[in-house]
Amino acid sequence: MSAAMLQVIGDPVLHSKSPLLHTAMLARLGLELPYTPRVVPKGGLPDYLAWAKAHGVMGFNATMPHKEDLVPLMDELGADAARVGAVNTVCVRGGKLIGHNTDGAGCLAALEAAGLWPRQRVVVLGAGGAAKAVALALAAGGARQVWVCNRTLSKADALAQADPSQVLTAADFSPDTLARLCARAELLVNCTNLGMAGCGQFDSLDFLDALPPEAGVFDLIYHPEETALLSRARQLGLAVHNGLTMLVYQAVLALEYFLDRPLDRRAMARAALEALEA
Ligand code: NAP
Repeated sequence: MSAAMLQVIGDPVLHSKSPLLHTAMLARLGLELPYTPRVVPKGGLPDYLAWAKAHGVMGFNATMPHKEDLVPLMDELGADAARVGAVNTVCVRGGKLIGHNTDGAGCLAALEAAGLWPRQRVVVLGAGGAAKAVALALAAGGARQVWVCNRTLSKADALAQADPSQVLTAADFSPDTLARLCARAELLVNCTNLGMAGCGQFDSLDFLDALPPEAGVFDLIYHPEETALLSRARQLGLAVHNGLTMLVYQAVLALEYFLDRPLDRRAMARAALEALEA
């Protein structure tokens, strides 16, 4: 057995910021535990899992294309991973694989750190993987009403039906619907790709005008640092926040799983953010 280590797997994965974030947090904790990226192509999980168990991998993060494929390969699933049907953090304990998903809790932690949580009525834009984790976490975390607005309405419907608390309501992505729901919302969370570097843009951002002045706007995107959505919301005087702290809090939560102990989350997030800004 090799010395203990942590990894992030995916394809592509070499661009991942996880090694930087985790190395900074581990250094702040005074722990000498290597955290390295490893390219694992689609279909390569069985080989990787056997290798990881044999080579002292204590845990690993997973990015595309593995999050759903990991689910049936786990010996145990945490509540978040079971709810979302995707795994992005795996602990290897006594030869057993325990899968977690930090997307939803990471978003809630980032919203809280930004002073945007708790809120009762939330508009979520999108119904993809991130939206599913975020919307279900908002519902489980105490929101009373979460409108899931998506271009493909059937995906929003499926997500709303997956919510046992019935807090989620599916809606379309038309300007009229978005404006009508924004008028009742305290928080808007963008979980679409719209506004991300290299992706499309919203046809119109006029729906933001309908948000009450005390509403907050959170964008999961952090590249660019300020999307057109956040820029317009900021000009309207609304509280805005990008997805960088969500990325950071996801790393903090993953490290808690890997080390199997609670950490000073604010201090860890500070260490990780400092590394990103260096
Ligand atoms: P995904 O599963 O591919 O979902 C993409 C979503 O965007 C879908 O709801 C899709 O709608 C919508 N969309 C794409 N193009 C659109 C368009 N032209 N008009 C309207 N809607 C459009 O992706 P994901 O994994 O959920 O990720 C979504 C975003 O969150 C990405 O930008 C990702 O980088 C970000 N993210 C950030 C963090 C973080 O830590 N900050 C974590 C996870 C994800 P349809 O269903 O109609 O296709």
